Amino acid sequence: MSAGFLLVLSGPSGSGKGTVSEAIMKKNKEIVYSTSVTTRRSRPGEVSGQNYFFVSKEEFEEMVEKDELLEHAFVHTNYYGTPKKFVFDEIEKGEIVLLEIDVQGALQIKKKYKEAIFIFLIPPTMEELKNRLIKRDTETEEEINTRYKNAFRELNFVGEYDYFVVNDKVDEAVTDIENIIAAEKLRVKRHKDIKSEVLKEKRN
Ligand code: 5GP
Repeated sequence: MSAGFLLVLSGPSGSGKGTVSEAIMKKNKEIVYSTSVTTRRSRPGEVSGQNYFFVSKEEFEEMVEKDELLEHAFVHTNYYGTPKKFVFDEIEKGEIVLLEIDVQGALQIKKKYKEAIFIFLIPPTMEELKNRLIKRDTETEEEINTRYKNAFRELNFVGEYDYFVVNDKVDEAVTDIENIIAAEKLRVKRHKDIKSEVLKEKRN
């Protein structure tokens, strides 16, 4: 069995990270989702503890102070962070932990965890990205413009990632990510002792 690892998924707002990661989680029970902490207000239908842990700025700052976050960043107009304990506990159990975070957070993780895998989700075109932001109708016009502008900035960081996946059709993006995971699980360095795994197989 391969050891657990971090799977970092980034991409501009509107690239479809949420939809794609939800579809991956539904199909792959071995992957666990890391629920982030945020100071942003919840959108209709979002559940605290499920989509995010919605906290006040003071609560967020306290978590930073106590070193409870693996990474954190100010994204668009709010703070976001990854609770550390959950991630470590799951990796210890051998799970693949999916982090849906922005490029600033991904760069922090990259410095600390060499074994993490970084995937950048891109939209088929920037026009399509804008259409998706408008269509989902969850942000004000000003927020949409901020997110659209930030998308160009985020694209500059694609070179820091291991893989890129184009999210034109969700099913195809999911298959691409599943293929990446399948290959990563077969990396020799993720297995402590392949020889004894093989010998054990033969005895049974
Ligand atoms: P949204 O407000 O649309 O849910 O997320 C806005 C951005 O924040 C997205 O790019 C999302 O990936 C990012 N984000 C969500 N959680 C985290 C986190 O824990 N850390 C960081 N650095 N970014 C996050």
